[in-house]
Amino acid sequence: MNRFAWVTPSTIEEAVGALEPGALVKAGGIDLMDLLKEGLIAPQRLVNLRAVEGLDRIEEKDEGLHVGPLVTLARLAANPIVQGRYRALADAAGHAATPQIRNVATVGGNLLQRPRCWYFRSEAFVCKKKGGGRCYAHGGENAYHAIMNNKTCAAVHPSATATALLALGAKLRIAGPTDAREVPLETFFVAPEVDVMRENALGAGEIITEIVIPYPPSEAGSAYLKQGEKESFDWPLAEVAVLLERDGNRCKRAIIVLGAAGPVPVRARTAEAALADKVIDDATARAAAKAAVQGATPLEQNAYKVTIFEAIVRRTILAARGNTA
Ligand SMILES: Cc1cc2nc3c(=O)[nH]c(=O)nc-3n(C[C@H](O)[C@H](O)[C@H](O)COP(=O)(O)OP(=O)(O)OC[C@H]3O[C@@H](n4cnc5c(N)ncnc54)[C@H](O)[C@@H]3O)c2cc1C
Repeated sequence: MNRFAWVTPSTIEEAVGALEPGALVKAGGIDLMDLLKEGLIAPQRLVNLRAVEGLDRIEEKDEGLHVGPLVTLARLAANPIVQGRYRALADAAGHAATPQIRNVATVGGNLLQRPRCWYFRSEAFVCKKKGGGRCYAHGGENAYHAIMNNKTCAAVHPSATATALLALGAKLRIAGPTDAREVPLETFFVAPEVDVMRENALGAGEIITEIVIPYPPSEAGSAYLKQGEKESFDWPLAEVAVLLERDGNRCKRAIIVLGAAGPVPVRARTAEAALADKVIDDATARAAAKAAVQGATPLEQNAYKVTIFEAIVRRTILAARGNTA
């Protein structure tokens, strides 16, 4: 690990000002510490956000729920408002990692963590994400890799909260060297075909300052389910978030997002269309789940994930129906 300077700003302006080239933001530090130890980053300066006032709030006001990027996964999971109207987010935050990690890991850092692909994480492999010419998961050990959109890079997106926040229609508020901007999460993540070296559209010197989730429509419910290999600190084999807007027992609108399926979270639009205007029951949930995995392109060792996704999509749709306010 290299030597680096440590800066603790107390305002967003100071934090942005401290982000000169070679500097990186630190929130909880969980992923950052891994990346430092793995030799994947060597910052000259770490800008510790923890003392910046106002970045750790959870409030419902104006357009919906406003969540500061420094809110920990543990606080998100335990917050009664989040557990009520934004249930998918509470469950995603509450099932990521371990209790100890959730006490430190922040939602901003969770969205921006780098992929867990073992080829990317190992200094020994200079894969496409690190400027090399190959995706080593192709033809390699790929049991945990992407089953969709995996031609250029087969790493899966690691963020549970991204899966839920996308289903809930969240947007990000971002501050930086130029004017503050807002980006819908839907367009925030960057596919490897656009730029394989990055996973999101955060620019140099920019900081996420707020996550805004619109109030769910009336008669809407959401759910998030994760399937890991074991009931412990696993990243998921499959994770799914669903927002269901209902008219009685019919589906008015569904948003279905698959995490751990592709390099960025995947909207299952065919499945959403399959549910529209249908009575939500086991048969329609099953048909939508089948549609969700249509066109999957599993690798040599991960076709089993397609079956798991199909089951988890069906269960998450039915759970979201049960969670409708
Ligand atoms: C054993 C283990 C199991 C895990 N399991 C899961 C899991 O199942 N699901 C899951 O989703 N995650 C899982 N994680 C990942 C963990 O949740 C993330 O590493 C953590 O949320 C990152 O948050 P942080 O606050 O520590 O971020 P940091 O490590 O501080 O930062 C991560 C990245 O985000 C940037 N950053 C942070 N905040 C901001 C901001 N406001 N603006 C701009 N840039 C910012 C940093 O520069 C850095 O690049 C697991 C981690 C471990 C170690």
